[in-house]
Amino acid sequence: MALQPCTEIPTAKTSPSAPVQALPVLKERGQREVFCGLTGIVWLHRKMQDAFFLVVGSRTCAHLIQSAAGVMIFAEPRFGTAILGERDLAGLADANDELERVVKELLDRRPDIGTLFLVGSCPSEVIKLDLAKAAEKLNHRYFPKTRVLNYSGSGIETTFTQGEDACLGSMVPVLPAKETEEPALLVVGSLADVVEDQFKRLFDKLGIGPVAFFPPRRASDLPSVGKGTKLLLAQPFLSETVRMLMKRGAELMPSPYPFGIEGTTAWLKTAAEAWGVEGEKFDEAIAPSVARATLGLERYKKLLQGRKAFLFPDSQLEIPLARFLSRECGMELIEVGTPYIDRMLMDAEIDLLPPGTALSEGQDVEKQLDRCRAARPDITVCGLGLANPLEAEGLSTKWSIELVFSPLHGYDQAADLAELFVRSSERRRRLSV
Ligand code: SF4
Repeated sequence: MALQPCTEIPTAKTSPSAPVQALPVLKERGQREVFCGLTGIVWLHRKMQDAFFLVVGSRTCAHLIQSAAGVMIFAEPRFGTAILGERDLAGLADANDELERVVKELLDRRPDIGTLFLVGSCPSEVIKLDLAKAAEKLNHRYFPKTRVLNYSGSGIETTFTQGEDACLGSMVPVLPAKETEEPALLVVGSLADVVEDQFKRLFDKLGIGPVAFFPPRRASDLPSVGKGTKLLLAQPFLSETVRMLMKRGAELMPSPYPFGIEGTTAWLKTAAEAWGVEGEKFDEAIAPSVARATLGLERYKKLLQGRKAFLFPDSQLEIPLARFLSRECGMELIEVGTPYIDRMLMDAEIDLLPPGTALSEGQDVEKQLDRCRAARPDITVCGLGLANPLEAEGLSTKWSIELVFSPLHGYDQAADLAELFVRSSERRRRLSV
């Protein structure tokens, strides 16, 4: 276990105004309690309504998706698993031929599929099944009716939300080239449709545009990218996607993420400054939303004020959430764990954390549990695997997966976000006699 300064990795300068505060980061490597990237399918298939996600994996992978998606599996969802059988794994069957057969069956049965993602898993990687080649071959056969892409959601390579990063990354090379160099805003990271609409209205009011969202609602409506594309990230876990977009000429606008009132204002302001929107016009445009959100948040703030929070690593949303909990809800941060810190995407958030915040990157779960038990936080944000055992030890927990599945970005969701952290301790209080 070693404490290291979090400024040790030199990165592109991301925050022109303020120097990044040198918070120490505890870097740990050990046993981890996290999802693999396959879980991203659960929210990505809801977002892109003409896409189908075919996992090429084992029964374990099918079980994982089924449990994460819950009742959704009964609604003829747009995801499934091509299960590698023993004959595939032993090399007795040609896995490529099998895959082609499965894809043909699928596309015959579901002609509405516009984009098919072949999603790699641990088993497909271990037997070195070349899904990129398979996708290319299938594309020759089915494009333009259906586009076939591939990415890996395996636990060897990806953690939870990195599955979205890998998926969006696989789409970047097929985005059309931008025709002019005029500025255009590209919001990157999947947002619930209702949140996307709220942001669209605000950008319209501010005169910022044209605006496109990536991923789009239909995978076939791909936004263009090139010189003049300005990237505003809605999610902090898109390291690869952003770098690939930058290679295609786009420019990153580093910003805090749109969680809570402060985060949303800073996020919108970043775009407003790039479009030269005047301060007065900006304040006027956001005022009604800010007033509504402040009122909504007030009640939860009272319940969270002065309470202690401990965040286990899970989704890479931990740092922006910790910033929201501390600055807008008055909570004390015991430890903020995150699976991975990408300085280029996180400096603007780290700058807003209270001085001395204990940051940790990676995980050695037993050691982290010891620290958590010793601190006895009022709320522990963690994955499902740790939540019930910690509840049994008398700690209130918040399942971090809900933070990814629920619409929580933007002004109108600020109170809902705070409420998620209040809910479990309130329940514990009501149930205690
Ligand atoms: S991809 Fe790997 S970690 Fe994920 S469910 Fe399949 S076997 Fe498990």
